[in-house]
Amino acid sequence: MLGEDGRSAPTIFAEMSALAVRTGAINLGQGFPDEDGPAIVLETARRAIADGVNQYPPGRGIPELCEAIAEHQHRFYGLRPDPQRNVLVTAGATEALAATLLALVDGPDDEVVVFEPYYDAYAACVALSGARLVTVPLRPPAFAPDLDDLRAAVGDRTRLILVNDPHNPTGAVLDAATRAEIVRLAERHDALIVTDEVYEHLIFDGPHTPIATLPGAWERTVSISSAGKTFSTTGWKIGWVTGPADLVDAVLAVKQFLTYAGGAPFQPAIAAGLRLPDAFFTGIADTLRAKRDLLADGLRDAGFAVSPAAGSYFTLADAAGLGARDAADFCRALPERVGVVAIPLTAFVTAAHRRDYATLVRFAACKRVEVIAEAARRLRALA
Ligand code: PMP
Ligand code: GLN
Repeated sequence: MLGEDGRSAPTIFAEMSALAVRTGAINLGQGFPDEDGPAIVLETARRAIADGVNQYPPGRGIPELCEAIAEHQHRFYGLRPDPQRNVLVTAGATEALAATLLALVDGPDDEVVVFEPYYDAYAACVALSGARLVTVPLRPPAFAPDLDDLRAAVGDRTRLILVNDPHNPTGAVLDAATRAEIVRLAERHDALIVTDEVYEHLIFDGPHTPIATLPGAWERTVSISSAGKTFSTTGWKIGWVTGPADLVDAVLAVKQFLTYAGGAPFQPAIAAGLRLPDAFFTGIADTLRAKRDLLADGLRDAGFAVSPAAGSYFTLADAAGLGARDAADFCRALPERVGVVAIPLTAFVTAAHRRDYATLVRFAACKRVEVIAEAARRLRALA
């Protein structure tokens, strides 16, 4: 039921990470860092476990984390969510997305508008919700939406506009005109906006602007983020939702029957992380920017045409110049050919649109510098 193309099979990330393990290749596929995040975050979790913080936390999240999330939204974006009414802790952004779609979609007549390519969970969660997926293409090389395409996609059946910014898999960041048009269209058609901002601090020419900060947007926007990328704790699955109380309550009503609650000892640790000084947050963007540049140079040297990323873990590269016709075949062969794993962009698009993205490959830059340098060296054998 999860979709036209067998989304109940293992995800592309699981398949490619397994391939990396099997072949011993460098894994620039699945987006997870190969280094630990800040020591205070790790130490706070260790201490919490030792101190017995090991039973169910409150369903909304521990007050300390809800407060830290609210403070973070104020410090970086000037928003003032009430930690008790406007914040909900979830099992990663993935549960937040699932619970939000299940909560806010009414039935099969509802449409959910997404930019395509899209993170794979979007199509699966929209399918679970029973709504119809409507896509707006992001075309190479800039991967910015055409606002006429966006206007054509949003109508009175649109229940939600689901926006990922910074964007996985393209690395694109929305411009001000697109953000404003999303809000204008949502108001005009009485739709809600759901934002996925898991890469909010991994933006290279920042700062990040959440759609919820635009005039008129807060009342109709559910903002989602997660600790995984910011604190290099992708395996902890601590995420959150912020938004108006009625929408957050609706998401909580579903979330309580998905996981109820989770990650008790990780919650105080992420609260400590969210309270780190500004320098930590600018530092992670600076570090990743340098890795993005190293990766992009390596890909160019290997003969790819590179679309430089403005944010996120990812960089897209076109393998057409290397003779590739189908990125899925290219990526399945790449570990044996040169010992590197990457993800074909076709994994992020509906079957009908695969031809438009056939030769594009996603590479993750969130690895140690020496790992990226070694991957670049290996990829040069393709040139
Ligand atoms: N949204 C996007 C755009 C992602 O790239 C990911 C994967 N990291 C997620 C959501 C899932 O986040 P989490 O691991 O917090 O569930
Ligand atoms: N978000 C990660 C990526 O895009 C993968 C997460 C997962 O494996 N579900 O690579």
